Amino acid sequence: MIADLVIRGGTLVTGNGARRGGVAITDGKIAAVDRDGALPAARETIDATGWHVLPGVIDTHVHLREPGRLEREDWITGTQAAAAGGITTILEMPIAIPPVHTAGILRERAAALGPRSIVNFGLYAGANPDNLDEIEALAAAGAIAFKTFRTDTPPGRENEFIGICCPDAGDMLRVMERTARTGLLHVVHCEEQQIINRTAAAVQASGRRDGGAHAAARPPVAETASVAQGIALAAATGARLQIAHVSAADAVDMVAAAKDRGLAVTAETCPHYLMLTDEALGAWGPYAKCNPPLRDRVAVERLWNAFRGGRIDVIGTDHSPFLPAEKGTPDGDIWAAPPGLPGLEEFLPLMLTAVHEERLSLSQLVRAVCETPAHLFGLWPRKGALIVGADADITIVNTAAEWVHDHARLYTKARDTALLYDGMRLRGAAVMTIVRGRVVMRDGRVTGEPGWGEWVRPG
Ligand SMILES: [Zn+2]
Repeated sequence: MIADLVIRGGTLVTGNGARRGGVAITDGKIAAVDRDGALPAARETIDATGWHVLPGVIDTHVHLREPGRLEREDWITGTQAAAAGGITTILEMPIAIPPVHTAGILRERAAALGPRSIVNFGLYAGANPDNLDEIEALAAAGAIAFKTFRTDTPPGRENEFIGICCPDAGDMLRVMERTARTGLLHVVHCEEQQIINRTAAAVQASGRRDGGAHAAARPPVAETASVAQGIALAAATGARLQIAHVSAADAVDMVAAAKDRGLAVTAETCPHYLMLTDEALGAWGPYAKCNPPLRDRVAVERLWNAFRGGRIDVIGTDHSPFLPAEKGTPDGDIWAAPPGLPGLEEFLPLMLTAVHEERLSLSQLVRAVCETPAHLFGLWPRKGALIVGADADITIVNTAAEWVHDHARLYTKARDTALLYDGMRLRGAAVMTIVRGRVVMRDGRVTGEPGWGEWVRPG
């Protein structure tokens, strides 16, 4: 056998450990995983000496939002950013114009984005009382999971959020009864709107407009109250619940307790909740504004403890591009700015820096960004695994790379809103991104063509 491509000389990393060896690829699939001496001959060889070879990274939480506000991000720049960041599959949230809330819109979106995609992509569908009768059709059409916000529709963005927001508990019970029938994961943004209404009003009445006011307006109890209710609804309906972007440490303990009861409840967090604190809100104001907000140092340490203890399942970026004009100035009005940070190109560098700081191991990282996402979203063993027969999605990283973040080098259109990472000393970077056997990024330069990325569906 002559393989198309062989990667040799590196260290293979799985969730169980690391070993020297390489991978042979034929027809976009992994054809062999073996020690270097036992790998077949190949038409092309990549020398991975000194590097670590990971299963392709899956980002469980992305907002590129095409079709929609293309000046913020489009599908090509967004999937270029993913490739640059070492991500081989993105799971795109339903917010778009139109938002994904019917099977027809899901199919149209997949058809439109396929020819523009550099990496693979899955598409979430919104679920709320307005599209109850579409939920099973959305699953049949290939939705990767369902997404619901427990908060109100953001004012002025109604056309991006149809079928996605559900602040009412009774409505949410009905919605989760339906999503439970599909067997798909239901990912929920858990913040309790009625609590935020009270806490935000009090902070606003005090006249505060500084960055820290955002964290005060959305305290941990807004998150934990919503997580507690979500778990109760999951227990009652049998829905497979994933708490999106957990930032409150108590919320993680609630998820762990739910798992102990045998419930299918899991937790996602984001690099910014692990690597930044609310001090960034003080320094960067609107540029550090996200929901839920960044938490204090004690909460961040508790989040790390939870992660190390295996109580956080996956890490996704929640990449949310906006224009600098929408964010305003760092000392500007925190209330007026939209929430969300870019993150596709910071994802692996931040997490590899954490590996260097011995906050987690490479194997724990592979579990959280490759293996567990593949299992939860029905992509295993096609994705997330370095095993024979899997798609040849591979992320090669250099854990020794030392560099300083510079937003000007980013592929995302939202680069000018990534200022808060500038000057940060990072240790580790993706050096090669391989999607179904084809190199789409080498040494930070994206070489992949739009259209190579494939729409992925569960099962
Ligand atoms: Zn999000």
